[in-house]
Amino acid sequence: MKLLVLINFVLLLFINCEKKSSATAIYNPGQGGAGNATIGCTNYDYGNWETSYYVLPYPVDISYTVNLSHCTSSYHAEGRPDQFGIDFDMPIGSLITATREGTVIHIEESGIDGGFPNNLVVVQQNDNTYAQYMHLTENGAIVSVGDVVEKGSHIGYSGSTGLAGYPHLHFIVTIESWEYPYVGIPYNFKNTEANPHSLQLGKSYTALPY
Ligand SMILES: [Zn+2]
Repeated sequence: MKLLVLINFVLLLFINCEKKSSATAIYNPGQGGAGNATIGCTNYDYGNWETSYYVLPYPVDISYTVNLSHCTSSYHAEGRPDQFGIDFDMPIGSLITATREGTVIHIEESGIDGGFPNNLVVVQQNDNTYAQYMHLTENGAIVSVGDVVEKGSHIGYSGSTGLAGYPHLHFIVTIESWEYPYVGIPYNFKNTEANPHSLQLGKSYTALPY
């Protein structure tokens, strides 16, 4: 019995070390397959979720399941540029809405689902941060560069472009720059159930009125 405990302890140490993989310049967010990963990075300050600047990136009354979340595995592992990225599992063509107000500064929408490049909309916010909506479908941007968006404004339609692997929205907030390899920051959402350390993988979240 004691030996078993010891083996488990050594295994745990090993897994924790594995999670600390260093950042890479290869862009490949969200490969799916959450596996047995658990949510991590609980030591970061996510702020008060009830007064968060952010609402979920889809319309009120809609629910989607989080596949990879903060500091889980693959490209969302701790220490990687996408460590604070969240993958929302949704069919191609799902409406994406703005999580927070800002100005659209970059759009790519020439990618074809299952192909490249990675389609995205980038919204610059008033504190030098950038909300990024990725893997959108071909010609899936509803906004144009220069547009000012409010919470809930229609941003585009989800897809499976870039290295998406399966249809989903990869959402991330970065600071200083939106270009990869960027620096992601923690955030949570005010219009759903309690999420003090942001959303958890494998859970479905309904967007509530705000
Ligand atoms: Zn992702």
